[in-house]
Amino acid sequence: MIKHHISDKLLMAYSAGTLPEAFNLVVATHISLCDECRARLAGFDCVGGAVLEQRIAPAALSSGALSATLEKIKRGGGSTAPGAPVRAARGDTVLPGPLRSYVGGGLEQVQWRSIGGGVRQAILPTSRNASARLLHIPAGTAVPDHGHRGLELTLVLQGAFVDETDRFARGDVEIADEDMEHTPVAEAGADCICLAATDAPLKFRALLPRLAQPFFRI
Ligand code: ZN
Ligand code: ZN
Repeated sequence: MIKHHISDKLLMAYSAGTLPEAFNLVVATHISLCDECRARLAGFDCVGGAVLEQRIAPAALSSGALSATLEKIKRGGGSTAPGAPVRAARGDTVLPGPLRSYVGGGLEQVQWRSIGGGVRQAILPTSRNASARLLHIPAGTAVPDHGHRGLELTLVLQGAFVDETDRFARGDVEIADEDMEHTPVAEAGADCICLAATDAPLKFRALLPRLAQPFFRI
């Protein structure tokens, strides 16, 4: 049961093709697991198409949104935003289809790198205006307390984590911004694997993670 979904604002931006590739990847991966957001996205895609069909003066749309929509139509419609991974059939493996194409296969293909405290990451190849990474957090382990300079989307793929706001399990997305500070802790039981995308470096409170973060691009 997915409890935490993609916001309307993000779904609309995804539909219009204005999100950085790293955020596209999180949205596409969530949608591959979530019927509810897939249906909402179809609604936004329809609105985008209807706006064009009614020949509303192009001035009513931002030039970016218009060209993104035209580009989408040229490519045969659908809701795959530019830079978005190809949608794949829903699978019940840890890595859903959109992610598997970035990793080049399943979990066993992931090139993990330790970032300390037992936490491992694998940075995924996306455009550099935002970054996407897989995080492997051992059961019961905390990610250091941090704030955000931009937007952070975290999608759970395996296990669950809990922070000051709620509990997040497979398919759930946490949307964090400048106003939020948190300490995500992986639940006891299973290691937690997440896909996280950020468009600015995190703000760690403790000195050690702060010193390390340039090396890990986190
Ligand atoms: Zn959803
Ligand atoms: Zn965070």
